[in-house]
Amino acid sequence: MDLTYTEEEEAFRARLRQWLAASLPELPPRPDPLDWPARRAYDTAWQRMLYDAGYAGLHWPEAAGGRGATPTQHLIYLEETEKAGAPYVGANFVGLLHAGPTIAAEGTPEQRARWLPPVLRGEEIWCQGFSEPDAGSDLAALRTRAVRDGDDYVVTGSKIWTSHAEVADWCELLVRTEPISEAVPKHRGITWLALPMDAPGVTVRPLRTLAGSTEFAEVFLDEVRVPAANRVGAENDGWRVTMVTLSFERGTAFVGEVVACRRTLAELAAVAKETGRWDDGAVRRQLGWLNAEFTALWRLTQWNVSESERTGGVPGTGGSVFKLRYSHARQELYDTAARVLGPDSLDLDRDWTLDKLSSLSYTIAAGTSQIQRNIVAERILGLPKGR
Ligand SMILES: Cc1cc2nc3c(=O)[nH]c(=O)nc-3n(C[C@H](O)[C@H](O)[C@H](O)COP(=O)(O)OP(=O)(O)OC[C@H]3O[C@@H](n4cnc5c(N)ncnc54)[C@H](O)[C@@H]3O)c2cc1C
Repeated sequence: MDLTYTEEEEAFRARLRQWLAASLPELPPRPDPLDWPARRAYDTAWQRMLYDAGYAGLHWPEAAGGRGATPTQHLIYLEETEKAGAPYVGANFVGLLHAGPTIAAEGTPEQRARWLPPVLRGEEIWCQGFSEPDAGSDLAALRTRAVRDGDDYVVTGSKIWTSHAEVADWCELLVRTEPISEAVPKHRGITWLALPMDAPGVTVRPLRTLAGSTEFAEVFLDEVRVPAANRVGAENDGWRVTMVTLSFERGTAFVGEVVACRRTLAELAAVAKETGRWDDGAVRRQLGWLNAEFTALWRLTQWNVSESERTGGVPGTGGSVFKLRYSHARQELYDTAARVLGPDSLDLDRDWTLDKLSSLSYTIAAGTSQIQRNIVAERILGLPKGR
């Protein structure tokens, strides 16, 4: 693997830097981080600017409306947007980073044409309806039922922890199309559907987080009719499609955030120097450790990206190693920020305070650390199951 950049890649970087320098000042003012509808408007406006400039879906295949950029160009894009302080994908997270890529990989040409362009243009927001009250880690145990009736599925059940449900237009929804029995193992009876969030029978009840935002919600589905044409993959083959979704979610979706964490770390070191906290050897050691950890995570990212190039663009189980280390390092980063800021870290108006509260969720969201360890043990190290 060659990690040096070619002249062409450096030229791509220079053009992007120029565009960012000219475009970022045109963005509307940042919204209140606890106000999700305002955040949707801000995030989709940014997505539209990227689209107009030809930077939307940079790493998506051209057949899916993306630019078909190389994984290295994508990494350069992530580095440069973060260095410039550009907004993160935010409300566009699910559509851009895992529902869209799943449809690009598994959808029919009609499905790609219907759903992908509005994601790239920032016109439609997606959410993820996987978790249920009694099936989070044990995802294959989900119970939301879909019964075929003519050209529709009739869906009844409930989902929980659905991020952005309050502002979403579509949901990547997992449903049970075959009851669990001795003949049908639980992961064989699952189907992946695109649910329109405005369909009759869908009720969204926002949940308030520790930080005060209604970032996620409970979603209740009462005999909701979903056209069978919205099924991605075959009926009862949803588990395989889900593995594609999760490999994007764990493998590449958090990558841009590593660069953001490196930026925060540099700012934190500067604050430590200004406030004299730098003189505390323990704080300095922790900052040094974090610097090493995020540098290693960036290298791991480059390795994962070059691996996914080899396997046709779908990231593999290596994403679980990344997710495991990244979510812990992120928590350590904001713990360190709290040590550097001292009592100021309790001020909810400081960016890092909300980030510290939300960092607690990273070892749970997108699959808990325990589950990632199980995957690493069983699927990467080949250790026996269930011991
Ligand atoms: C901020 C945030 C956003 C989220 N967004 C979404 C979303 O948009 N869409 C969505 O569908 N879900 C979402 N989730 C839900 C998330 O995916 C689940 O919370 C997660 O998968 C864990 O499931 P659970 O909460 O049911 O916990 P449980 O499965 O009940 O687990 C409880 C504890 O037991 C441990 N455990 C369970 N089984 C095992 C095992 N076999 N081996 C070892 N330990 C085990 C777990 O690791 C955990 O510590 C979100 C969660 C958070 C925190």
